[in-house]
Amino acid sequence: MPTFIVLLGPPGVGKGTQAKILAEQTGLVHVSSGELFRENLKNQTELGKLAKAYIDKGELVPDDVTISMIRERLSRPDCKMGAILDGFPRTPVQADALEKMLSEFNGQVDTVPYITGEESVLVERVSGRWTCRASGHIYHEKFSPPHQLGVCDVDGSELYQRDDDKVETVKKRIQVYRNQTMPLVDYYRQRGKLVEIDGMQAVEVVNAALLTCCMN
Ligand code: ADP
Ligand code: ADP
Repeated sequence: MPTFIVLLGPPGVGKGTQAKILAEQTGLVHVSSGELFRENLKNQTELGKLAKAYIDKGELVPDDVTISMIRERLSRPDCKMGAILDGFPRTPVQADALEKMLSEFNGQVDTVPYITGEESVLVERVSGRWTCRASGHIYHEKFSPPHQLGVCDVDGSELYQRDDDKVETVKKRIQVYRNQTMPLVDYYRQRGKLVEIDGMQAVEVVNAALLTCCMN
């Protein structure tokens, strides 16, 4: 049976950072809905053009578009053993759609680590975030700076600050998270899949907690 892990938590809590580490440790593919949208933006696809207006405002891209993008990604051969989902699902409609599509792939959501954090820290984390142009590696100007300013340690590509990481948009995204994504905490708790992890700890401490809950 494949293994599907859903990382749940507010913007800036460390989902992407943790997903990348966990993917290396487990060999599972990291599937980030935000990164998929950003690739489409970069390549100026129809999907990218549609998503841009929502992303710029800090709102969610409509469910139908998001669900079909994820369905296409999860049906690729590299997800046969499962995946670490980062940023999807973000609404109950997306969560229901995920259940359905995983049953088609003979899988299910196995574990949902719910990474928690305080709002002031989330804003500080997101506003200091630098992202790698080539493949989305994540840095923070204070908490995890690259060796060389503006250059990705892993692939040497340029680091940039996302347009939607401005303080005002981040605050909007946290509000959208509260209204539209928080219901998933109960959704997965009721299904016995939720494991709460304090995301305000150091990266290595959060990683150790994640490894424990995902490998059991
Ligand atoms: P998310 O995917 O949940 O939005 P990221 O993984 O992109 O969050 O992390 C947001 C910012 O916080 C990044 O700049 C990252 O380097 C930094 N960060 C992530 N985890 C930690 C941590 N445990 N302690 C300090 N900074 C962190
Ligand atoms: P963060 O890492 O800070 O949580 P993401 O990179 O996951 O941010 O998402 C960036 C933006 O992409 C979101 O604000 C939203 O507009 C869009 N997006 C990403 N995932 C989804 C999703 N599952 N449903 C709808 N919109 C999404």
